[in-house]
Amino acid sequence: MSSTPQSQARTESVLEAKAPALSAEEAAEVAQRVFGIQGSAHPLSSERDQNFRLREGDGREWVLKIANPAEDPAILDMQTQALLHIARVDPELAIPRIKTTPDGALFHQIDGLDGRRFIARVLSFLPGQLLEDATPQPALGRDVGAMTARLARALRGFFHPAARHELLWDLTQAPALRTRTHHIGDPGHRRLVEEVLDHFDAEVLPKLRKLRAQIIHNDISCLNTLVDGDRVTGVLDFGDLIHAPMVADIAVPISELIVESTDPIATAAEITAGYHAVTTLEDDELALVFDLVSTRSAMHVAIGNWRVGDHPENSDYIMSGVQEHGALLEQMQEWRRDRMYAGLRRACSMPISVAVPDFARRPSDEENLQPMLERRRQRLGPGLDLSYDRPLHVVRGEGVWLIDATGRSFLDAYNNVPHVGHCHPTVVQALAQQAATLNTNTRYLYESAIEYAERLIATMPADLSVCMFVCSGSEANDLAWRLAKAHTGNTGAIVIEDAYHGTTDAVHELSPAEQGEGRPLAEHVAAVPAPDGYRGKFRKDDPQYADRYATCIDEAVASLDARGFAPAAFYLDLILSSSGIFVSPPGYLSAAFEKVRAAGGLCVADEVQSGFGRTGEHFWGFSAHGVVPDIVTLGKPIGNGYSMAAVVTRPEIVASLIEESEFFSTTGGNPVACRVGLAVLDVLEREGLQERAARVGTQLRSQIGDLAGRHLLIGEVRGAGLFIGVDLVRDRSTLEPAADEATAIVNRMRDQGVLVGIDGPHANVLKIRPPLVFDEDHALQLTDALDQALQEI
Ligand code: PMP
Repeated sequence: MSSTPQSQARTESVLEAKAPALSAEEAAEVAQRVFGIQGSAHPLSSERDQNFRLREGDGREWVLKIANPAEDPAILDMQTQALLHIARVDPELAIPRIKTTPDGALFHQIDGLDGRRFIARVLSFLPGQLLEDATPQPALGRDVGAMTARLARALRGFFHPAARHELLWDLTQAPALRTRTHHIGDPGHRRLVEEVLDHFDAEVLPKLRKLRAQIIHNDISCLNTLVDGDRVTGVLDFGDLIHAPMVADIAVPISELIVESTDPIATAAEITAGYHAVTTLEDDELALVFDLVSTRSAMHVAIGNWRVGDHPENSDYIMSGVQEHGALLEQMQEWRRDRMYAGLRRACSMPISVAVPDFARRPSDEENLQPMLERRRQRLGPGLDLSYDRPLHVVRGEGVWLIDATGRSFLDAYNNVPHVGHCHPTVVQALAQQAATLNTNTRYLYESAIEYAERLIATMPADLSVCMFVCSGSEANDLAWRLAKAHTGNTGAIVIEDAYHGTTDAVHELSPAEQGEGRPLAEHVAAVPAPDGYRGKFRKDDPQYADRYATCIDEAVASLDARGFAPAAFYLDLILSSSGIFVSPPGYLSAAFEKVRAAGGLCVADEVQSGFGRTGEHFWGFSAHGVVPDIVTLGKPIGNGYSMAAVVTRPEIVASLIEESEFFSTTGGNPVACRVGLAVLDVLEREGLQERAARVGTQLRSQIGDLAGRHLLIGEVRGAGLFIGVDLVRDRSTLEPAADEATAIVNRMRDQGVLVGIDGPHANVLKIRPPLVFDEDHALQLTDALDQALQEI
């Protein structure tokens, strides 16, 4: 005997070492001499070990496993201990049982005729048909998933020091296969495998490392699963046990069963749903299934091609499925990662976020809305307008889609409240979980309010270091008004001529856009023109136009003074939505802020519409102008639809208010709101939505700009990120606003399944501000619909 198994393990890897090569007679002899089993031995297939099926005279059957000599004994011990553990915690689970030697040993070392030393173990033989030979049925996939989860459950409390050993079939070690890809003969497959491994290394592995991990079976393959009809009756082969992310366990059966499936996403969904019914899968796990499956297939192709050269004698086993996995990699290029994700989420009864629903193009039979419209008018009162000539009866939202009662989907390019997508699963889950745990008010200590305030403040300039919670943008602006008055001792306000800041009594007075026709502003309010360089009083062709608009602040201060007021605050919506959607010209804000402060007022940045990355280049609208406001007000997107809002300001400003009165909002900053807010921040960060707003917004503006070459109605395309205004004009020299045309276009686009709105003092500016999960395909769809609507009118 030249070396021990341990020393061999140091010099050759288990997949490189030749499998043991006992004859059937030798195997029968070992079975009898060591384990007391008298009977015949028949070889079984194996990747790297040698297995024999033993049959005793009385019909009892066993499997003699002769381990590969390069296998670390500690790993074999882990496998043995795992089988013993599972038998203890879930005795009904059909897995092989260890048969000890007559004196109670779990294994025996034998010296092979080739001079090598092998570890031999005996396991009970499980009867049944291999999944490999069964006819696939949907219910079977579900049971495979359920069995995978049940086995993982049984292994939950198990650990072994050898659990993190090197194993080529460990998905988390897949990048190591890069050094083997040159063995892949088919150049197309080689390129695909390399692409998958590169993507895995760069994108998947960092996310995988954050997922739940434990010891898993890691090889619930067709060759290791026993079935009877549509039921799984047993699981074999614990040779690939490894400590790895739990979700890696389902990638194996999915990658094998979808190979032959006519509807791979449905098959994957069945397996996943089966698993989910036993152990709830997390959203982050589902999001990676697509990549884990493709990586597993890439591993098949790489390992098979490499090993077959060294082990031509075992080529049938090694190469089984390799060609199919290569073909699967080709097919998977056609699927969309988010389609698989959506399918899995649907199968697990989770809301879908960013995927294009299959029903996106399903035609609708128009519903008769009259009875509902009548009830609404009676009970909600007149004056609460509905959007579109043909209002939408919406029943569901998913990502960028709104779905009506007939099942038709509309591409939502209008709603900015579902900032990270309608019903984003991460947000929904955070909301539901917290609602089921605790919801109370900010007079109690709880972590989420503090954590949220800290996270939010970290995105702001250092001076703005206190966060106050309320429930709506209007309340935030109302509170800002109280803060400004308390801190300055003044009671006047300066606002933009067409501004909208909310609906409370105080803020309504600061919203000229909402005053009735010809109604004068309140005495303490002075309005200045919006710094509109396109159709305003001063235009872009005047190099001084930003300064001239800022000078209007001086006039407002003088006008207030004449009425006996000094400014407590100047309010500015950072995307000037109700003024027609644009960004203030460079220099305007710093000059305006300086003038307001010189007159004793505070500057309030209303980021209710523009905040949280929507404008793309910056997280906050004011950051584009190099200014730091005194107060920032937030709402709408902050809670993705959950009522939540906040005011961020300096501590001394809060102190001024508290000196003169109390502030408390019962539901402002409640634990559910704060968890929702944290989830929104997480999603924004994780999905890179600010960058997406910049990228897709630029593309969309440029596409609509291209339409202007053919459609004279388009006067100007402007805005920032995914907040876009399209100013429609009847005449490009007079800039006569095309309001009726805007209404017609919006209604036609609605009929084509694309939702946009209208804004601006002349109601002629198309307003486009979709959930930030809007992507390049959606931008194209919107542009096509706009093009068609423009042609039609
Ligand atoms: N400020 C701005 C700029 C807004 O657009 C709005 C709402 N459209 C508000 C404040 C008021 O927010 P809410 O309706 O949530 O009270």
